[in-house]
Amino acid sequence: MLRATLLKLSESPRFAKWVTTNGMTRGMARRFVAGETLDEAIAAARACNNAGMLVSLDYLGENSATTADAQKARDSYLEVFERIEREKLHANVSCKLTQLGLDMNVEFCEGLVLSIAERASAYENFLRIDMEGSLYTQRTVDLVKRVRSHTPAVGTVIQSYLYRSETDIQDLLAYGCRIRLCKGAYKESQDVAYPHKKDVDFNYVRLMKILLPSGFYHGIATHDPRMIAETIRWAATKHIPKDDFEFQMLYGVRTDLQRRLVKDGYRLRVYIPYGNDWFPYFMRRLAERPANVAFLVRNFLRS
Ligand SMILES: Cc1cc2nc3c(=O)[nH]c(=O)nc-3n(C[C@H](O)[C@H](O)[C@H](O)COP(=O)(O)OP(=O)(O)OC[C@H]3O[C@@H](n4cnc5c(N)ncnc54)[C@H](O)[C@@H]3O)c2cc1C
Repeated sequence: MLRATLLKLSESPRFAKWVTTNGMTRGMARRFVAGETLDEAIAAARACNNAGMLVSLDYLGENSATTADAQKARDSYLEVFERIEREKLHANVSCKLTQLGLDMNVEFCEGLVLSIAERASAYENFLRIDMEGSLYTQRTVDLVKRVRSHTPAVGTVIQSYLYRSETDIQDLLAYGCRIRLCKGAYKESQDVAYPHKKDVDFNYVRLMKILLPSGFYHGIATHDPRMIAETIRWAATKHIPKDDFEFQMLYGVRTDLQRRLVKDGYRLRVYIPYGNDWFPYFMRRLAERPANVAFLVRNFLRS
């Protein structure tokens, strides 16, 4: 209920204005967002690398309104790959298709993604296409498959809350695609997604067991200790080496668990978002963590 309210509020321009101009909420957001500039994100990435962690950098933005905005986002990603290469960081890049114009024109969006993936490929690096709401799932899977026919330097994300995810995984694996498995962060109807957490979790473990022995390098993205323990247990039973997959977690979330996994010899990638357009990302993080929410809503209603 609280999660649904928060995800709904994330569509309100008035709430967005309040959150992004309020000192308290801006401070709260800094826990999840490395900063507004690439320099700040690079500094956070360097700190993670020094702690033995890999990184994925995300220049925040979604649902670009003009082709010029989408092209600007593409240019920012090209710059990120340059900086990663120049500064010898152990980092790749994550981006969203709606930031790159998917709402406007699929072919236009695909052209931008291809140019970023080719830059990734030139540096033997990797571009991950985040998965957005279910309205975009089919277009994302199709676009990723088409870009993969030009370069293998691109992969995507599958969400265990969607009923369709096993079919999508089989489809993408047939193209040799690297997949990040997550639970899913958007507001979805029960026509397309499991409404109960226990089913989402059950499906997560089921899908993890399809991905790990598939022969491709995948990301197990979760902060849930039960999902992590089950992955570790199952990989050990099947003699899947620790470096055949990686765990992934978000910047600022369960840093204790991040450190523990590194100490235990697992590969761990931290997803580091940065940029001005942090409001929707921040709202999704709050929706996952009801503890902060009552405080936030109370302050908004008083304002
Ligand atoms: C690297 C990475 C990339 C992702 N990419 C996508 C994507 O492309 N598309 C998409 O839909 N979703 C994405 N997500 C988000 C994901 O779908 C979940 O919404 C999010 O990870 C919370 O689920 P969980 O697996 O951590 O389990 P949960 O059961 O939600 O949480 C388990 C525990 O983790 C901790 N925790 C989880 N979230 C938070 C938080 N925000 N603040 C504080 N503590 C928290 C709490 O201790 C909680 O009890 C990504 C997540 C990660 C880690």
